Amino acid sequence: MDDTIAAIATPLGDGGIHIVRISGPDAWPIACQLFRPAPPQTLETIEPLKVAFGHIHDPATGRILDEVLLTRFVKPHSYTSEDVVEIHGHGGAFVATRILQGVLDQGARLALPGEFTRRAFLHGRLDLTQAEAVADVIHAASDKALSTALSQLQGELSRSLNALYDRLLAVLAQLEAAIDFPEEGLEFERKQAMAQQVSAVQKEIDALIATFRAGRIYREGLNVALVGKPNVGKSSLLNALLKEDRAIVTPHPGTTRDVLEERVRIRDLHLNIVDTAGIRHQPEVIEEEGIKRTRRALGQADLALVLLDLSMPLDANDDMLLDAVGATPRLIVLNKCDRPPQLDTDALAKRFQDETPFPISATTGEGLDALIDRLHARILAGAPSGEGALITRERHRQALAGSRDALQRVTESLNGDLSEDLVAVDLNTALEHLGGLLGKTFVEDLLDQIFDDFCIGK
Ligand code: GDP
Repeated sequence: MDDTIAAIATPLGDGGIHIVRISGPDAWPIACQLFRPAPPQTLETIEPLKVAFGHIHDPATGRILDEVLLTRFVKPHSYTSEDVVEIHGHGGAFVATRILQGVLDQGARLALPGEFTRRAFLHGRLDLTQAEAVADVIHAASDKALSTALSQLQGELSRSLNALYDRLLAVLAQLEAAIDFPEEGLEFERKQAMAQQVSAVQKEIDALIATFRAGRIYREGLNVALVGKPNVGKSSLLNALLKEDRAIVTPHPGTTRDVLEERVRIRDLHLNIVDTAGIRHQPEVIEEEGIKRTRRALGQADLALVLLDLSMPLDANDDMLLDAVGATPRLIVLNKCDRPPQLDTDALAKRFQDETPFPISATTGEGLDALIDRLHARILAGAPSGEGALITRERHRQALAGSRDALQRVTESLNGDLSEDLVAVDLNTALEHLGGLLGKTFVEDLLDQIFDDFCIGK
């Protein structure tokens, strides 16, 4: 971390402005080689955190490269906690690259993806869950995703985890005192009290683990498999939902080739709808491949949106699909309600007693608002009501589960009569899991995994 890194922090392409970011001990000396402030300002009069106007020169030729605004940040008061300079130039890929090249020529090194945030973490300005939240803010696709990421960035989750960590540390201190002074030993009441403290922490960890479903859905969106026989109206419904979603975002490209995935925003949340494309344009019968794809989509889905045709009786294809849905949570939707009904809805209601099938028309839009209400309610079902900390990633869940399991062993040992040494081993394991989650301890591989997801310049 003793070198100086630089990158273009904005997407490469033509736009309003671009930003070249420099961080490290030479950030300011490098900027001084390239930047000429407009009079009466001089390099000496530029104050930190104030914007200076001027020009970037090519030191070799003396030619002006761009007219820019420059901000100087002095450590530790910067994004990375290091000396940082940000150069705001005109938004063109060519001019941005020229300025960056000038910075690199003066001795900076091109930053790796996420390296600015990685440095912020390594300098202790952010913990690991906060660093992850930076990426989540950038990728947020709904209000809920954004507010969840922001509260994690502000340290909501970190505070909960740190409090649990400190409570366990206090128990460990008592244990270690007993290990150091074995002649005093731990009397029964003390052990009981410690077991209680540990199981209270364990309960809170369980409560945090229970937020994972909601946290993941807020962050990633709900994975919905849209299933139904050919011509039932799957693509019509998908289009109707997309039309409702007035989000100003670039289209989210399909992730796999044999299925079509669309991101649809529903109020403050978003859905990733997988339409089993293989089935869509096959006439009449669903071939084996179609069923295979449906099964695969269902395997990854949080919810199956099962489309039936209200204007015709249930047939073998419908039965096959309903079988395939099996135990996946589902919402049964009856499409084409604008046509004379032919489907035996009474029989259907008997078959699916736990839910009322939902009539809509994908073409007229009837019932669509109500469907969206229902979807929204289904997503939020069981989600924690308060504003408390949420976990959002499998990494969080695994670490907490590891900690919880170790604490379970601790309480059992304390209640039984195991030696303090053995109890301390498990307690240390529980602490390590929590510490790893926060990034108090880490391995480079984990950091690579986390920061590789970032863009260059962040
Ligand atoms: P998919 O094969 O399941 O994707 O079905 P499509 O969305 O391609 O629809 C098949 C046909 O049904 C098309 O001609 C649609 O216009 C028609 N369709 C879809 N939804 C409705 C609806 O709600 N009412 C009526 N009357 N026709 C519909």
